[in-house]
Amino acid sequence: MRLSDHFTLQELTKSSTAERKGIKNAPDDTQIESLKNVCLNILEPVRTNYGVPLRPSSGFRCLELNRAIGSSDSSQHVKGEAVDFEVPHISNEDLAHWIMLNLDYDQLILEFYRKGEPNSGWVHCSYVKGNNRKKALKYNGKNYERLSFSGEG
Ligand SMILES: [Zn+2]
Repeated sequence: MRLSDHFTLQELTKSSTAERKGIKNAPDDTQIESLKNVCLNILEPVRTNYGVPLRPSSGFRCLELNRAIGSSDSSQHVKGEAVDFEVPHISNEDLAHWIMLNLDYDQLILEFYRKGEPNSGWVHCSYVKGNNRKKALKYNGKNYERLSFSGEG
């Protein structure tokens, strides 16, 4: 099933952990609708801006899968509202900065990024139709901090 021009349901539900553990990672209609919104409003504009194909590393995670990888039950991945991804050859810090300045989003988190290592970590971004909070954070595995870039307060 196609979710948007360049992204399929298969790409947004694929998980090696699910495959290994035999977990059926199947979203319902509401969760599929949320995934479509993430594709249309986050992934497609990012792909258009950078002009390169990208493959999300994690999209929808059913509760069983989400628990299997040690994530919290309140994760937006469980609702199909969040996606983790990188863009080939683009620093994750630059990617997070671009999203922050150009897109409407609910929560943007630059995860496990280390200064001076452009490919470290990844970007987590969620979209909630009609209820986007525009919260931009960074997370190092222990603490969340507000995401800011030089030149900003
Ligand atoms: Zn995530």
